[in-house]
Amino acid sequence: MKFETLCLHADLNKKDEWGTLNQAICQSATFVHKGVDEDSPYSYSRLSNPTRAHLENTVNALEGGYRSYAFSSGMTAITVTMMLFKRGDHIISTYDLYGGALRLFNNVCNSNGIEFSFIDTSDLELLKSSIKPNTKAIYIETPSNPLMQVTDILAIAEIAKKHNILVIVDNTFLTPYYQRPLELGASIVIHSGTKYLGGHNDTLAGFVVCKNEELAQKILYFSKTIGGQLSPFDCFLIERGIKTLPIRMDKINDNAYKIATWLRECDKIKKVYYVGFNDYKGYDIIKKQSSGFGGMISIEVESEELAKKILRDVKIFQYAESLGGVDSLITYPMRQTHADLPKEEREAKGINERFLRISVGIENPYDLINDLKGAIYD
Ligand SMILES: *Cc1c(COP(=O)(O)O)cnc(C)c1O
Repeated sequence: MKFETLCLHADLNKKDEWGTLNQAICQSATFVHKGVDEDSPYSYSRLSNPTRAHLENTVNALEGGYRSYAFSSGMTAITVTMMLFKRGDHIISTYDLYGGALRLFNNVCNSNGIEFSFIDTSDLELLKSSIKPNTKAIYIETPSNPLMQVTDILAIAEIAKKHNILVIVDNTFLTPYYQRPLELGASIVIHSGTKYLGGHNDTLAGFVVCKNEELAQKILYFSKTIGGQLSPFDCFLIERGIKTLPIRMDKINDNAYKIATWLRECDKIKKVYYVGFNDYKGYDIIKKQSSGFGGMISIEVESEELAKKILRDVKIFQYAESLGGVDSLITYPMRQTHADLPKEEREAKGINERFLRISVGIENPYDLINDLKGAIYD
C-alpha cells in the first residue's frame, strides 16, 4: 500500500464484533479475563487498549517501524525515551531544539546525571569530534525549531553505527509523509502528535516509534511502568486526523512556499528561515532525505515594533503557540517556546525581539499573504 492508503488502512487487523468502519472508542480501563488459564488480548489499558493499539499500528506503518507507542503528549514520549539512559551517559543533541525538550534535558535529565552536548548537528566534523566513550545517543530535530536548520540523518546514522550509538529523530515538523528517519538509519522516531498528525489543534499526543524489538520491549516496559498513555478518545481523534495527513500536508506545503516567497520579497522582513528555498543552507540535504518542506517559516522583521504590530494586527493568522494544524498560527518564540533560555544564549541564536515563527495552515494562501501584508503595512 502507498502512503495515502496506509493513512486509512494500515491496520488491516482492525476488527470488532460490530464491524465498525472506524475503530471503536474502547473506553475501558480494564478487561475481563476469559479464564484463569486463558490468555486474553487485553488486560489493563496502561499496558494496551484496542483503540490505542490501532493507532499505534497506523503510526508504526507510516514510519516503517517495528512498534510504536502512543503517549499523552510529545513531552511524555520524549521523557519515556530518555528512560533508556542512565547516570553517566552522554547524549549529543541538536542545539536548536524544541523548548520543552531543551528544558527536560537541561533541567531534569541533566540533574539525574545524564550529560548533554548541544551542537550544530548539521556540522558533521563537529559531531564526530563531540563523540565520547560514554556517548549513547544523538538526538536530532530536522528541520530544527525555530531556526530551520537541516541535519543529514543518513550521514549521522552512518557515523553513529560505527560507534554503536542510537540515533533519535524528532520527526514532528515533516511527518512520515515527507520524511522517514528509520529508513535513513535512525533507531527511534519521536512525534508530537499534537501537531501535524492530529492536525487540528485539538488534542495533545506523542509517539515513540522503535526500529527493532529490543528497543520496543524497553519502551513498552517503561511505558507500562510509568504511564502517560494516550486516552482512547484522544487516540480516535489522532487516528481521524491521520486519515487526511497527506492532503493537509500537500496544501500546507504549497501554501508555505507561496508565503515564504512573498515574505522574502517584502522589504520589512530582514530574513526568512524556510527550508524550501533552493539557496537555503541544507537545501540539498532536505531535497535528498525528504519529499516536502513542510509548513514552518521563521522570520526576522525590521524592528521589535513591527514584530508586535504583526502579532496584534493579523486577523486570519492567530497569535498562539503550537503548530501543524489546519489553522495558521504565528508565535513569538522569545516570549513563548524559548522564554526559558538564558537571554545571551537565545540572542546568540538569533531568537530576538524581532523574530517570529509561522505555522502555515490550509486557508487560501492569498488570504494569508494579504493578512500579513495588512498587518505589516496598514
Ligand atoms: C510541540 C513539540 C514537542 C512537544 O510536544 P507536546 O505534544 O506539546 O508535548 C516536541 N517536539 C517538537 C518538535 C514540537 O513541536
